[in-house]
Amino acid sequence: STSLSVFTSDLRLSDNPVLRGALRSAERVVPLFVVDRGLAGTGFAVPNRVAFLADALADLDAGLRERGGRLVVRRGDAVAEILRAARQADADEVHIAGRVSGYATRRERRLREALGADGRRLRVHGAVVTAVEPGEVTPAGKDHFAVFTPYFRAWRRAGVRKPLSAPRTVSVPSGPRSEPVAAVASLASGSPSPGLPEGGETAGRRRMRSWWRSGLRSYADRQDDLAGDATSRLSPYLHFGCLSPVELVHRAREAGGAGADAFVRQLAWRDFHHQVLAARPDASYADYRPRGDRWREDAAEVAAWKAGRTGYPLVDAGMRQLRHEGWMHNRARLLVASFLTKTLYQDWRIGARYFLELLVDGDVANNQLNWQWAAGTGTDTRPNRVLNPLAQARRFDPDGAYVRRWVPELAGVTGSGVHTPWRLPEAERDRLDYPDPIVDLQEGLARFRHARG
Ligand code: FAD
Repeated sequence: STSLSVFTSDLRLSDNPVLRGALRSAERVVPLFVVDRGLAGTGFAVPNRVAFLADALADLDAGLRERGGRLVVRRGDAVAEILRAARQADADEVHIAGRVSGYATRRERRLREALGADGRRLRVHGAVVTAVEPGEVTPAGKDHFAVFTPYFRAWRRAGVRKPLSAPRTVSVPSGPRSEPVAAVASLASGSPSPGLPEGGETAGRRRMRSWWRSGLRSYADRQDDLAGDATSRLSPYLHFGCLSPVELVHRAREAGGAGADAFVRQLAWRDFHHQVLAARPDASYADYRPRGDRWREDAAEVAAWKAGRTGYPLVDAGMRQLRHEGWMHNRARLLVASFLTKTLYQDWRIGARYFLELLVDGDVANNQLNWQWAAGTGTDTRPNRVLNPLAQARRFDPDGAYVRRWVPELAGVTGSGVHTPWRLPEAERDRLDYPDPIVDLQEGLARFRHARG
């Protein structure tokens, strides 16, 4: 007998309940990845994520070949291609991970119907993409938690299943043809960011091991230190499922200590946003909690924000890091998002869309809901707080090293004065090819407070 194991956001062999389930149910397995026409060619197939995906699929294929198998890649409508592959292999069961976005749940429904009509079964596995499955913990009488702290309390009590080891052998029937795995790289036009990390489970596990050795212990103290760059940078591997959140939670709990606790808490944030999106798929585009905003529209300001030329060095440093690496430090993400949505009072969707064009970890649940959090239309219990770029600079980049790293125009400015170039002596100021602030912080604040009443 044969089963299909469909890879989606779980591009790994270790701790993969989907693959394990398929292997348990049949002697042979077709490991399948479909380049979904519904996503390829859309705004979602951007150079940074496509490059990372191509690495991840090549690595997955190599890992499967070491075990006697291979990866089968198809292109087209995901439901039609899975059905076709199931027929060709005469597979009784199709295994796949449960996902939360509106798009993925609609696709799952269509797939279940199509397979059912064909006498085949869809098996959806939970706790693959998240450590705790969305909907597993809920407040009394409600379908999801709208506030993180009580969610986290419940999440901590919920058991996380034990991680599974990678299978030793994977026996694949000889029939199914595959597109060349490398062809995936050509899905997006344009080049990826120069500092993009290498994708795949092998690279992810390498990164995880070095993080375990040298980052985890001091994470609690250093997670907001912008120049220290002391976070795990595991987010793209988690986004594509090259690493398992279940395994990370287990390992962190085994390691113990304040750093591990703080790290586990961040992983719970990831699960939190997934369970919000599962219950409210409309939150990917509509305000989770509408505040009656009538956002300003100013294309020149948005362009300056995107280009990292707002005249506020810490904001600009974050935006330049995003372009260069396809990734931005969380503290900077919070600041640039607050700046766009509160100081400039422009629609969070503009920022969220731009982030998704560049972020290698760009993810509907985490991106849209973090943007909503920052804009005060989401789950923040203090929706009207506004981050001040100068106060943030004093706290999280006190000597300006992060700014000097990312804003070369200011690299020569010494000391904390790098955060306020407009206060430099005129002669020095004139020599810098760096813009004046595009907005007065006090005016921005007053405008926002007035708007939110
Ligand atoms: P670490 O600090 O090492 O944290 C470990 C892991 O916990 C991360 O890899 C991530 O998976 C998870 N995590 C940490 N913080 C959060 C958070 N606030 N919400 C959800 N998960 C979190 N994260 C994404 O993965 N994809 C996105 O598209 C995304 N967009 C964001 C947009 C905005 C406006 C903001 C403020 C945050 C966004 N984040 C997003 C969350 C966070 O910034 C990144 O997960 C984090 O910076 C990744 O770096 P790291 O792996 O070094 O994180």
